Amino acid sequence: MFGYHGKIVEVNLTTGSININNFDEDFARLYLGGNGFAAKILYDTVKPHTEPLSEDNVVVFATGPFTGGHVWGGSRGHCASISPLTNILCDSNFGGNFAAMFKRTAFDAIVIKGKASSPVYIHIDNEIVTIKDATSLWGKTVSEAHSLLSKQNEKRIESALIGRAGENLVRYASVICSGTRVSAAGRGCIGAVLGSKLCKGIVVSGDKKIEIFDADKLKNCLNQLYPGMKERAKHLTEFGTPVLVQMINSRGKLCTRNNQKEQFDKAYMISGEYIKEHHKKKNIACHGCPVACGKLVDVPYGTYTGTNVKMPEYETIYSIGSMLENSDVVSIYNANTVCDEMGMDTISFGVTLAFLTECVEKGLIKNSDLEIPLHFGKWNHLAEIAEYAAYQKGLLGKLLAMGSRRLSEYIDGESYKYLYEIKGLEIAGHSARGLRQMSLGYATATRGGSHHDTRPTYYPNDPEVDPGFTHQPEYSFNSQNNTAIGDSLVICRFIHERSFGTQINETLAEALSYVTGWDITKQELVEIGERIYTLERLINVSRGIDRQSDVLPYRVMNEPIPDGPSKGWMCTNEDLQKMLDEYYRLRGWDKNGIPTKETLKRLKIY
Ligand code: SF4
Repeated sequence: MFGYHGKIVEVNLTTGSININNFDEDFARLYLGGNGFAAKILYDTVKPHTEPLSEDNVVVFATGPFTGGHVWGGSRGHCASISPLTNILCDSNFGGNFAAMFKRTAFDAIVIKGKASSPVYIHIDNEIVTIKDATSLWGKTVSEAHSLLSKQNEKRIESALIGRAGENLVRYASVICSGTRVSAAGRGCIGAVLGSKLCKGIVVSGDKKIEIFDADKLKNCLNQLYPGMKERAKHLTEFGTPVLVQMINSRGKLCTRNNQKEQFDKAYMISGEYIKEHHKKKNIACHGCPVACGKLVDVPYGTYTGTNVKMPEYETIYSIGSMLENSDVVSIYNANTVCDEMGMDTISFGVTLAFLTECVEKGLIKNSDLEIPLHFGKWNHLAEIAEYAAYQKGLLGKLLAMGSRRLSEYIDGESYKYLYEIKGLEIAGHSARGLRQMSLGYATATRGGSHHDTRPTYYPNDPEVDPGFTHQPEYSFNSQNNTAIGDSLVICRFIHERSFGTQINETLAEALSYVTGWDITKQELVEIGERIYTLERLINVSRGIDRQSDVLPYRVMNEPIPDGPSKGWMCTNEDLQKMLDEYYRLRGWDKNGIPTKETLKRLKIY
């Protein structure tokens, strides 16, 4: 089979058994890899009432036909599980070097089941899979653990590891993948699922090569796309994702002060332009990527003084910058590095902290009860606060480690009015009320408040071009199908969108046909995207999700943006309900948001 090894390894940490399951081309063509494989495996293996932190939960790491191959941005893999944060499906994409090295072992994916009796890690060296003792790694930061593992191995290794947050079952613990450009599988708390299994992570090493059906035609196709892709990605190469800060702020859609407003008067101080001028050291890239959107930055003060650390992404600058009214970019460098070392999702951490800070401001929690008092705009101790969360230290750490929805249930009162989450997942940095497409996009995202299901598009705030809500159901339908395909191939979103576009098209189908030898069309890819998305929905439906769950936060539906260029924008419940009707119709789901039997049959799910 071209583009695949055709093998998935299944490791049971309770019994110690290691099984290799072969898959055929029919399976590959139905689900592609990455996200699709993970959704199918979880659907087949995890029972509806499984507790996310129990040994019955399952974690899948999967590559796809683009991983580690010629397609730029094919440095990526995808992981998924049932989330302890949201109690539904969570899936997360990662880069760095881990996925490409995984693809050089004998396997396309790994399924982790059960629970070890003491700390372990899984070592894959080509076709040899071993469960190894991780006692000496437990309690180590991610970089310490990776460094120890590198010393223990003669061959070059790459790793996907948890840190203290995963070990301590913080509800938004992530998995950190090694590489020059370290990358987090950040969203949804797969780190805590691994922690509950006493699994420090996966170490891979390999030298196997995947056969490509027609490498010359693939290269020719990519060569034609290359100049356009490089041009469209030039701001990422120069500034990285923080280049978004000023653009989004200028349109009045930069969520600030726990989304009480959407313009930050000090946005420049946390922008890509500021970072480039004052702290940028050099570009760093995932395996084989010509865009190199990552940067190393100097840290002039704080926990990591005098070192070079990975520049925070835009999403982090939003969550622990503008959402906290924090203009001290160096405090963001330090706290971001703590989150990476502890293995903790910066979006959920920052948005939970912003929520807690507003609860303090509104008198629902007393600062005198917290180990570090919280005030918008004053974040000298941000890195320390991140450590409190990772260790669940003191009342502050315990409150933060819950994630915002659980924290709101704990605080009670009117705190729900200040939440910024959907289905329990804190919302990313693309405004749910300032971007027409993201209202419905977030409400129907299978993982909750994620910007990687429906993708944000920034139109000018000109009423002539305001897209309104009418076309958003169709936009979300197409965008979600496209992201499901990208996460299954697996390809970096930035490169996917800048080379193949934001909708499934013939060029993408053509590139896949050169890798696999399949005579595949755009329409077949659309159907695969639909299949994967509907399968994800089915997993969530089995766990209680329906129309009632496809909602937006109180503030998004009831409080218009107070000022700035997007003043007055919001998405009322009436707007949302109209969009849901049309969206469910397009998806072939019933009025309650449940996929119909006809749809399941059409998509070959049953
Ligand atoms: S564009 Fe950035 S995130 Fe994507 S593969 Fe390249 S370096 Fe990695």
